[in-house]
Amino acid sequence: MLDIKQSALLKTSSYINGNWHPSNTTFDVSNPAIDEVIAQVCDASVEQAILAVRSAKKAFKAWSTMPANERATLLRNWFNLMMEHQDDLARILTLEQGKPLAEAKGEIAYGASFIEWFAEEGKRVYGDTIPSLSAKQKIVVIKQAVGVVAAITPWNFPNAMIARKAAAALAAGCTFVVRPATQTPLSALAMAELAEQAGIPAGVFNVVVGQDAKGIGEVFTTHTDVAKFTFTGSTAVGKSLIKQCASGVKKVSMELGGNAPFIVFNDADIEEAVKGAINSKYRNAGQTCVCTNRIFVQKDVLASFTEKFTDAVNHLHVGNGIDDNIQIGPMISSEAVENVTKLVNDSIKQGAVLNTGGKPHKAGSHFFQPTILTQVTQDMPVARNEIFGPVSPIISFDTESDAIAMANDTEYGLAAYFYARDIGRVWRVAEALDFGMVGINEGLISNAAAPFGGVKQSGSGREGSKYGLDDYLEIKYLCMGGISD
Ligand code: NAP
Repeated sequence: MLDIKQSALLKTSSYINGNWHPSNTTFDVSNPAIDEVIAQVCDASVEQAILAVRSAKKAFKAWSTMPANERATLLRNWFNLMMEHQDDLARILTLEQGKPLAEAKGEIAYGASFIEWFAEEGKRVYGDTIPSLSAKQKIVVIKQAVGVVAAITPWNFPNAMIARKAAAALAAGCTFVVRPATQTPLSALAMAELAEQAGIPAGVFNVVVGQDAKGIGEVFTTHTDVAKFTFTGSTAVGKSLIKQCASGVKKVSMELGGNAPFIVFNDADIEEAVKGAINSKYRNAGQTCVCTNRIFVQKDVLASFTEKFTDAVNHLHVGNGIDDNIQIGPMISSEAVENVTKLVNDSIKQGAVLNTGGKPHKAGSHFFQPTILTQVTQDMPVARNEIFGPVSPIISFDTESDAIAMANDTEYGLAAYFYARDIGRVWRVAEALDFGMVGINEGLISNAAAPFGGVKQSGSGREGSKYGLDDYLEIKYLCMGGISD
């Protein structure tokens, strides 16, 4: 049904300790574009989650003590296999998640790039020697893998949100257990098949697919064999999982929600700002954590930006992501369409003006029209909430300080974007924005070499870059005495 070249990539049960684990019950995985079941997946139990954690614990000693360059070779194999099967992996991803095939191929390359990156970075886990305060002692610092890492990931990037975590964890010498989102388990299981083909030993990378998010989440956050818990998803769920981790004082990292401002100043290149806004807003039908959520435009360029942006939005092709030339695929569910419809309607009731779109799209029950609202204010629902849909609210502003104050007026702090050419303004604004990542004259900012992560209620920890390994390493201080005679 999925029409992929290598049928071995289509797996439908959990991968634990190098084995595929059947279960008595299954759940359906559907294609959101046509609302049809594409696979039935074995529903893992809490006991299977515990087995996965124990297997990861058993595998930890051998994996963490394997020389980093040998781990790197296996990770490199995994990267190569992901790129070799990019087309199949992208097809699976589009069919379960909905994003256009070209974007899905991009996600596979993006996810794989973290594996390639950390295969190299894992070789460079350097320690330190520190000048001692005493002639009798030497101070040495080494870094060691934290242990078993448990992860929970969302549906919007079914490959990359796993790859970004697993790559760093495995490179650091940790073993890994992930529970992917219920809507998108197939991409995770295909990754497990390729990890096995790459030669990654049993127990090092485990995937538990089960509908019981709470039960499996409880195991991942409280089991004594788990040393670190890492989560990507909504802020509300993230907060409850942090609380659960507190009981065992587990190391935690969180990649949570966002409310990204996109500021267009009067010295911006407007054509470039329009391109950047299209990229950062409408990718994945607006369902990314770093998607532009509020567009602030300085009054003197409001008319020209809005006209050009509206024209670009009206040219976006909406449809089934598996078809050619589609830029906006379906949303993940009909509930997601309802949420966005409500945010738009409630904002219109409060005075926002519909410039284009605004309704569910005729392509199917999971589609929403690319939408622009103007005359939006900061207190409206589309500005206060993470929209997670193809809707752009435009808010006008007078001065640089007004824009900064409004941009920062949110509990979130993940990504922000702004377009300006004046070098003084660029520095001032970049430093004043309370966000973990700032795109300056750029709407697409994420890559393996850069630290991805947020501040405030958007989370803690960083994925990717030379900093990304730190989340999976403990610092150990060795005090060597008896040096002088
Ligand atoms: P979500 O509802 O928080 O779900 C995320 C994951 O958590 C899913 O696997 C979900 O399982 C699981 N989950 C839900 N409730 C749970 C519980 N009580 N215990 C344990 N696990 C639980 O988020 P979402 O709606 O899927 O994803 C969108 C959110 O993720 C947005 O807020 C977005 O900004 C954020 N996100 C952040 C980043 C980042 O890097 N900062 C990246 C991508 C997405 P089920 O699938 O079974 O519900």
